[in-house]
Amino acid sequence: MTKVNLLFFKLLLLLSPYLLFADGHIFVYHRFDDNRYPTTNISTKTLRAEFNYLKKHNYKVVPLIDIVEKIKAKEKVPDNWVAFTIDDGFKTFYTNGLPVFKQYGYPFTLFIAVKYTQEKYRDYVSWKQLKEISKYGSVEFHSYGHGHFGRMSDKQLKADMDKGLKFMKEHLNYEPKLFVYPYGEYDARVEKIVNSYGFQAVFNQNMGAVNGECSDAYDIDRSAVVGSNSKDFKLYLKFKELCGVHFHKPLYFPKDKIVKTVEVTLDDKSITIADIFISNHGWHKVKVKNGKIVYHANKKVSRDRIKIGVKVKSKIKLMVLSK
Ligand SMILES: [Zn+2]
Repeated sequence: MTKVNLLFFKLLLLLSPYLLFADGHIFVYHRFDDNRYPTTNISTKTLRAEFNYLKKHNYKVVPLIDIVEKIKAKEKVPDNWVAFTIDDGFKTFYTNGLPVFKQYGYPFTLFIAVKYTQEKYRDYVSWKQLKEISKYGSVEFHSYGHGHFGRMSDKQLKADMDKGLKFMKEHLNYEPKLFVYPYGEYDARVEKIVNSYGFQAVFNQNMGAVNGECSDAYDIDRSAVVGSNSKDFKLYLKFKELCGVHFHKPLYFPKDKIVKTVEVTLDDKSITIADIFISNHGWHKVKVKNGKIVYHANKKVSRDRIKIGVKVKSKIKLMVLSK
């Protein structure tokens, strides 16, 4: 999310002070106290501030699988539920983050890109450390090579998945139940292949919330938190899930980098007005007729990774398309 987009959301939430509690929330962290990478790092000082905030406001930190089970059963996720995920398997989680999680007794799920551990990359956890980590939280799957799935062939994609799963079974004697897309990137083709592995749930990295009755178990939103203050964290806790949204066009990253038509349907047929978001272009008000939005955008995008979003009355749903 760019700064400008984030500003928009902040403004939006300022205008919605009544959103005190709103659906369940899943957060994602990467590195801890590693100032070399500010865009994926959180200081443990901030982490403690966030944990203290949750304690003070009666939030309940639950294992990720508990939220998944609610979604699968189409039951409401209590609005004070929070789950933590950590991506990639950086060593600083083991050295700096884990002690804080242990101190607060908070469960977590670590999603590993297996190659970094298997090939003993310096900044990543070892298999031995993963065994210790799994005493306090769960270890799940984030691909073998952390590639851009959208740019890989079906064959390459399957080979990557198979290889990672094989090593996890070999070293941890575990068959992962949960999966996270590398870079949070996916499209309809990638989604189909990943879903053929029979995971119980698949996660993206779109900021948002979890509503047990409507969230899709194969496309669950997680909000990334970084930096040295907990402002964004508190903001994300207020997000609500926009239920009953179906994206129809575009479903793939446009080769000519022009988003021609955005087509979305909403289950709620009483909605007459919504906003559509396109990266580089912000939000545009659109009319909704009988639950259907057809927006002839013809907007040129400059990035290799774009977000398309829908907003109805301060509830948001985003989708990411990448080259
Ligand atoms: Zn990752």
